[in-house]
Amino acid sequence: MAKTKSPQPTSVVTGAAGFLGSHLTDLLLSRGHRVIGIDNFVTGSVDNIAHLGGNRNFKFIQQDVTEFIFLDEPVNYVWHFASPASPIDYLELPIQTLKVGSLGTHKALGLAKNKGARFLIASTSEIYGDPLIHPQVEEYWGNVNTIGPRGCYDEAKRFAEAMTMAYHREHKVETRIVRIFNTYGPRMRLKDGRVVPAFVSQAIKNKPVTVFGNGSQTRSFCYVSDLIEGIYRLMMSDYDLPVNIGNPTEMTMLQFAEEIIRSTGSKSKIVFKPLPQDDPKQRKPNITKAKSILKWEPKVALAEGLKDTIAYFRTKV
Ligand code: UDP
Repeated sequence: MAKTKSPQPTSVVTGAAGFLGSHLTDLLLSRGHRVIGIDNFVTGSVDNIAHLGGNRNFKFIQQDVTEFIFLDEPVNYVWHFASPASPIDYLELPIQTLKVGSLGTHKALGLAKNKGARFLIASTSEIYGDPLIHPQVEEYWGNVNTIGPRGCYDEAKRFAEAMTMAYHREHKVETRIVRIFNTYGPRMRLKDGRVVPAFVSQAIKNKPVTVFGNGSQTRSFCYVSDLIEGIYRLMMSDYDLPVNIGNPTEMTMLQFAEEIIRSTGSKSKIVFKPLPQDDPKQRKPNITKAKSILKWEPKVALAEGLKDTIAYFRTKV
């Protein structure tokens, strides 16, 4: 009897033990994919994938994706999520950040080309730098300080987008580019320095909540399940130009600190600390493209998402 081709798609997720990579892996498994996760645990954690031990559809390879990726099996989708992603991580790991965004993207694209797989790069709102256009639309080219402390991340991701488009144009690889805005949820590292784990852990411990600068800078926070759904839809779409995925509900960091103190029922006071260099003054995605092309918009309200996030951090603090 002739063998029929298995309909089960295989996805490779780089950074599978990270915050976003592990949530993406869970979603793909729940949608019937086989997942090969790759991570070198520089900023990822085995705790994020421990629940997948024994899952026949999940295979894990401990590897640095800047090295050649060898896989002896068919692959349908490559999702390149490996990278340090918080300002203190890329300050501590500037060379690894530059390498994974450049050499790592090259290797992941090479894998996709070799396998005839579709490729998606996890890009970032950081490519807009300290934006002069607000809210940020995908057509905006950005305002990045190449030699500043965030340059290693911003430029690595800008290079990654350029490399992705080069493989698309030159090698006809099917590619997708998602620009991810601030995201929060369970599995963020308590000490990754980002504002959500910082404020929540400080508030839970009734310690001072550290607002940088005067707290007038803005961000817009997307709950992780919304973000991952948007990214999945982008990969499955036929759109090959960048798409912003994020939640457009914008607030100042001072408002956010007050919200965290309120939702944790904390006795913490707010203290002001120096603003880090090149900290973007405002950030909010224009998500018109995601709405029209992917029929996607965020569903989880901040209060609801924070409830789960705070519950998670209470188990870690
Ligand atoms: N921030 C803050 N206190 C902290 C950590 C961060 O006020 O303890 C501010 C930071 O200056 C920035 C915003 O919160 O304006 C978001 O910072 P995060 O590191 O989460 O990510 P970014 O959006 O800057 O990449």
